[in-house]
Amino acid sequence: MTAPPPPARLLPANSNNLEIAADLLRAGGLVAFPTETLYGLGADARNETAVMNVFQAKQRAKDKPLIVLLQDIQEAAQYGELNEHAYRLAEAFWPGALTLIVRQRDSSPLAPGLNPQSGTVALRVPGNAIAMRLLRAFSGPLTAPSANITGAAPAKTAGDVMQGLGHAIDAVLDGGACPGNESTLLDLSGGAPRLLRDGAISRGRIESVLGPLDI
Ligand code: AMP
Ligand code: MG
Repeated sequence: MTAPPPPARLLPANSNNLEIAADLLRAGGLVAFPTETLYGLGADARNETAVMNVFQAKQRAKDKPLIVLLQDIQEAAQYGELNEHAYRLAEAFWPGALTLIVRQRDSSPLAPGLNPQSGTVALRVPGNAIAMRLLRAFSGPLTAPSANITGAAPAKTAGDVMQGLGHAIDAVLDGGACPGNESTLLDLSGGAPRLLRDGAISRGRIESVLGPLDI
């Protein structure tokens, strides 16, 4: 029998550990961290091996695309084609729990396995101070789907992450409990904007920026 991999390091989210977490991510590791919704399972969104390890750790179907977290609108525009709707919503709600699906830039250096064949990419600037400090320390795009095994209860605390994924990832940055809601998911990649998931930012608030939504 082979021994299970060692458990993830549980790192209190202080400055020193944020640097350690960023180094682990640069080395292709998996590091969970708090966001304004749930704990996210972080990995370098440009590193195909790291991205594949995220699918494996979560036991997630490979055709279910992963989100990308960024520091600001300008960085988001390097990866996605932000149209006028996207800019208006991003200016109104980022940093915050609004995930925008847009056309991916042809020149984008994102790992192909992140969103195979879709031609679109889901982007968000997270409204959580630890997530933002980690993005700055890492200095690049991070994928961060929810830090749980697919179908299991979502992870609201570092302890939840350790319990579900502790043997499948490298570290957890402990920043206390997350609110436990989901981001609102809006598809801007086609014609009219489509609300795919009504989450932390209500439909009414989206409509206050865009006007009435058809879907
Ligand atoms: P979360 O990370 O929980 O806020 O959720 C992001 C959601 O967006 C997940 O349900 C993903 O499956 C979904 N998603 C990610 N990328 C895409 C994409 N390119 N097109 C459609 N949905 C996506
Ligand atoms: Mg999810």
